[in-house]
Amino acid sequence: MRKPFIVANWKMHKNVRESVDFVNQIKSKLPDPNKMEVGIAAQAFALPSMVEAAGKSGLKIIAQNAAAEYSGPYTGEISLRGLSDAGVSYVMLGHIERRRLFGETNENVHQKVQAALQRGVTPIICTDETMVQQVVNNEIHYVFHQLMTVLHGISLDQIKQVVISYEPSWAVGAGQHANPTLAEEGCRLIRQTIAEYYSYEIADKIRILYGGSVNPNNIKDIVDKPDIDGVLIGRASLDLDNFLKMISNA
Ligand code: PGA
Repeated sequence: MRKPFIVANWKMHKNVRESVDFVNQIKSKLPDPNKMEVGIAAQAFALPSMVEAAGKSGLKIIAQNAAAEYSGPYTGEISLRGLSDAGVSYVMLGHIERRRLFGETNENVHQKVQAALQRGVTPIICTDETMVQQVVNNEIHYVFHQLMTVLHGISLDQIKQVVISYEPSWAVGAGQHANPTLAEEGCRLIRQTIAEYYSYEIADKIRILYGGSVNPNNIKDIVDKPDIDGVLIGRASLDLDNFLKMISNA
């Protein structure tokens, strides 16, 4: 049984005070952590205060990125050492905006995933595909290729720990979500890829999230799909009431 995982991706929104206020307000309203996991991916400077505010509530505090290097002369980077010291449990790696705006490659993401696994911060590996590839019916190949490059050399033991997300690039921040059947198809394909590369048993345990314009009206239809174990929510997660509504609708 895979535990549903609802993740807010705040991107470059909210300062420390706003982030901590949100955590303080949501932490008593969370679902039973044994039944559903809820997490917030926030800006790096807010993470330690959020971890402290979340306390033992079960709310997961998530980084939006990290460097592959543990420490050293990398001005402006976010170290996994710092994240793990701060009690951050997950790190999103390879989000479409990192790839699209900052030129992150599959190889970069691969190195970051390995580093995160070594440092005990669980990676949420983000995969995507583009509108064009979907139109030319090349989507299957692309998702497969991207995921396999990122997972290359990740052991059987390590793969069990990761979370994977599927976010069609045209649906992220666009207000146009993938219809649930298409979202399911992407997630099913990722699971099938894991099954072929590792095993069916492992594929069955790994959580796969859908992301891209999820909102209170579409969340239920999306998470009802058998291969979708949760969602990554951008814009619609910034407002507390909206986010709580989504958690309850899921
Ligand atoms: P969106 O963002 O919900 O605003 O489309 C999703 C994401 O970036 O993960």
